[in-house]
Amino acid sequence: MFLWMFFIVASSGVTAAEQSQIRVTTDFPGGSAEVVDLDAASQTIHIHPALNAGRGWPCWWYLRVDGLDEAKPITLKVSAHPKPYRATQILSASWAQPQRAAISTDDVTFTQTPPAKIGKDRIAVYTFNAPAKRIWLAWGPPFVPSHAEDVLNRIANKVPGSERFELAKTLGGRPVNGIRIGGGTKSKPAPFGVWVQARQHAWESGGCWVGRGFIEWAASDDPEAVKLRELATIHYVPIMDVDNAAMGAGGKEAVPRDHNRDWSDKPVYPEVAAAQKRLIELDAKNLLHVFIDLHNPGPGERRPYFFGPFDLPQMSPMHQRNYADWIGLAARSINGPLALLPEYKIASYIKTDEERLRMSSNWVRHHSQSYVISGTLETVWNTTHSTQVGYQTVGRQLAQALARYLAANPTRPVGEGR
Ligand SMILES: [Zn+2]
Repeated sequence: MFLWMFFIVASSGVTAAEQSQIRVTTDFPGGSAEVVDLDAASQTIHIHPALNAGRGWPCWWYLRVDGLDEAKPITLKVSAHPKPYRATQILSASWAQPQRAAISTDDVTFTQTPPAKIGKDRIAVYTFNAPAKRIWLAWGPPFVPSHAEDVLNRIANKVPGSERFELAKTLGGRPVNGIRIGGGTKSKPAPFGVWVQARQHAWESGGCWVGRGFIEWAASDDPEAVKLRELATIHYVPIMDVDNAAMGAGGKEAVPRDHNRDWSDKPVYPEVAAAQKRLIELDAKNLLHVFIDLHNPGPGERRPYFFGPFDLPQMSPMHQRNYADWIGLAARSINGPLALLPEYKIASYIKTDEERLRMSSNWVRHHSQSYVISGTLETVWNTTHSTQVGYQTVGRQLAQALARYLAANPTRPVGEGR
């Protein structure tokens, strides 16, 4: 009581600007921002994403702001980090500038700010009313290791026979956890197998929300989901690059390479090596049919899409049929508000075979049987539906597509109808 009264008395003689004590904090999991400038009187905060040397693109940002005056608007300015993230490479501002920023008053539910204005100076300016004295602002809805733990625990408690597993310990000593659900019953084991993982690129938090929507539907009581668990053993890894996700680093183009360029015979990251080992074992037991890696694409994309195989025309008739079946079913299921493109894109920006083969989906294609489909789902992040709800809708629809795809038996002979 004494301290509180002292505060009231002490603050009564200062100006409004001095009273305003806006504080920016990033010392929590996933936090990232460097304050360029802060003007308390006008509640204007200028940041750029933090640069974590060797840990990839400085595009992800996530900060808490305290001491706001709810009667006044806030202006958040976001610009590119001016320093190189790798050798001489400086990241374009657009990767750090969603049209609408994610905003929360409880760090749990995130909505979007009004759209930013981006001027000739390449600074994105978000102006909105302060919804509370304390708010969280981010590039997109955050998904940090504690979110992953919550999902895994919830699913483990809900689905009988599920099994949580530690895929690996990261180079930083953090656990990379996953869960296996489904698998049918002892008397009737499931004939198919699925692997879904997210966040090989740590800035792409949207992929994690798609993953959460996926596993929650797959674990649900919906009759189609129950059937899916009878048909398939599902492995789900919510965050692959746990170290960078926990540190708030971007991950993409990390030194010496990022997770999605690490699928060689000698992976740098223990979690990639462990995933490879499990995938090879599953395939050897004829228990790998679908592999999906969840990502977010470039800022200009407006619809989710799959990256498909480079060498589709050279693949076996069964393989070609399965890829065609999959994209058809996926486009019918992922039908809005974020509607999937009904054809594959090819990652033609990757110039060498050597690099192509170090990407997860290509590695899986080259280490699995000729009925396995392996793809990267790129869910757009720069739209009004790129929210917790919108991403999870894509995830649910993805799981529904999977249920329908497997129900048609992807190992049936070519020429036999679905
Ligand atoms: Zn990615």
